[in-house]
Amino acid sequence: MSCCLYPQERLREESILPFSAFLTDNFGRRHSYLRMSLTEKCNLRCQYCMPEDGVKLTPRSQLLSTSEVLTLARLFVQEGVEKIRLTGGEPLIRPDVLDIIAELRKLEGLKTIAVTTNGMNLARLLPKLKDAGLNLINISLDSLVPAKFEFIVRRKGFHKVIEGIDKAIEMGYNPVKVNCVVMRGLNEDELLDFVALTEKKPLEVRFIEYMPFDGNKWNFKKMVSYQEMLDHIRQQWPNLEKLQTGQTETAKTFKVPGFKGQVGFITSMSDHFCGSCNRLRITADGNLKVCLFGNSEVSLRDVLRSGASNEELLQIIGAAVGRKKKQHAGMFSISQMKNRPMILIGGLSHNQSSSEDPSVTLGQSASDQTLPGIDVYNTHLDGTTEEKLTHTDAQGRAAMVDVGGKVPTRRTATARATVLLGPTAFQLLRDNQLAKGDALAVAQLSGIMASKQTSALIPLCHPLPLDQASVTFDLDEPQNAAVVTASCRTTGRTGVEMEALTAVSVAALTIYDMCKAVSHDIIITDVKLVSKTGGKRDFHRHP
Ligand code: SAM
Ligand code: SF4
Repeated sequence: MSCCLYPQERLREESILPFSAFLTDNFGRRHSYLRMSLTEKCNLRCQYCMPEDGVKLTPRSQLLSTSEVLTLARLFVQEGVEKIRLTGGEPLIRPDVLDIIAELRKLEGLKTIAVTTNGMNLARLLPKLKDAGLNLINISLDSLVPAKFEFIVRRKGFHKVIEGIDKAIEMGYNPVKVNCVVMRGLNEDELLDFVALTEKKPLEVRFIEYMPFDGNKWNFKKMVSYQEMLDHIRQQWPNLEKLQTGQTETAKTFKVPGFKGQVGFITSMSDHFCGSCNRLRITADGNLKVCLFGNSEVSLRDVLRSGASNEELLQIIGAAVGRKKKQHAGMFSISQMKNRPMILIGGLSHNQSSSEDPSVTLGQSASDQTLPGIDVYNTHLDGTTEEKLTHTDAQGRAAMVDVGGKVPTRRTATARATVLLGPTAFQLLRDNQLAKGDALAVAQLSGIMASKQTSALIPLCHPLPLDQASVTFDLDEPQNAAVVTASCRTTGRTGVEMEALTAVSVAALTIYDMCKAVSHDIIITDVKLVSKTGGKRDFHRHP
């Protein structure tokens, strides 16, 4: 390290001074990486990043000015930040981006200035960016098929991005990182084509698990997990070699032997890397975010503009870092949590969407005349009726109703259950800090699996093909409760309420199982059908 370091930096370099207490959290994580969003604007409209009708932009006066960006950067670098990534929105559309980079370059102690860009303006700007001091580039590219690219980003420009990537390689950036958000049914079929790109080019293609943010219609089924991607790639490239990565690296990296480049996976959803997280984020409007998936923010802009001293700013930053949680809330909680759309965060409510509204009343089929199970009557010739049990035979033995003559109709059912957890277990579940792991993730899968097993568990239930099953959770803070909701749909001859009820029951039991080491005082209650449609009679429970 050069001899012109400020004394403090030299001491830190020589490990005499501990890392800044302000940037160290309660779990010992040192935050030496700052991601700064330079703008909320973008020249693309990626489906996974922003809602179709755009986002409400912050008025310009409330965005950080050039000098505010630099003041904050200087402060963070002075405290030990070694890497700053400029992001957005699209950082390369900010007119002063070159000035910002040139000024950042002057900061002693700052080792890396990186940019994440959609690549649209890259080929044109790159020589100047390099001169200014840019030393690391990530370029987003989600498809190698021009028409698909345009569908995903809702704009034209595929060839400009490719040109930007080639220019970055030509100018000696190595590796050039290419970020690809993988979405089921959209670009998962291109994994091998992206891997093939690394044969001749010094690229690091990073497959990113699709993450939920406000307005991006995230759905568990659209996410392709790291393991699934890896399995798929390994079928073609069984010798794919795992590479060693630094402790704070987010990507798990691999290489096909003999290829120039490599591939990486950003597994934020299936295998978070909270334990080694060293990053902080500042939004374009000057809010410090200590966790990408947390919604707590503190306005550094307002503190700056109030004329606060650096010491006061540091106290506020330190307090925010001190509140950083051990890990984020887990993918299902995240998908149901209020957060900014990605474009307003600049990093790598939204419901976990089921495209179906289970409460929609569907038309009733005229042919659907009997409802197995309850109150069906035998009508005699004299017009009198007698109650007939449909699930027993003449000898009173259990018998399954023959539904073979019925015409299949579309049927839905929604059920709900409440798990009263008590304060300790509730808090641990909410913060995803249960020793057994992500309870809601496990409960969701168990609920869905259980719905498919219903006929194997409930003797007289008919096996039916489920078109769809979903399990979601709401956290009820005042009651310290997790409320489980399951919706099932089939196109069949019998209804799916047993499937929905089984799903919520098993998901609730799973939550119990995940929490029982913390407390046995857990009550599963209020298991009920909320609605069902498509059978002889629709049902909608009134609140
Ligand atoms: N406009 C620049 C770009 O596209 O590279 C920088 C900003 S963009 C928000 C930063 C990165 O976040 C991009 O690589 C993008 O692919 C990724 N990203 C955005 N939304 C995402 C999501 N829902 N899931 C995973 N990654 C996402
Ligand atoms: Fe723009 Fe980047 Fe978001 Fe796409 S991912 S809309 S390019 S900010």
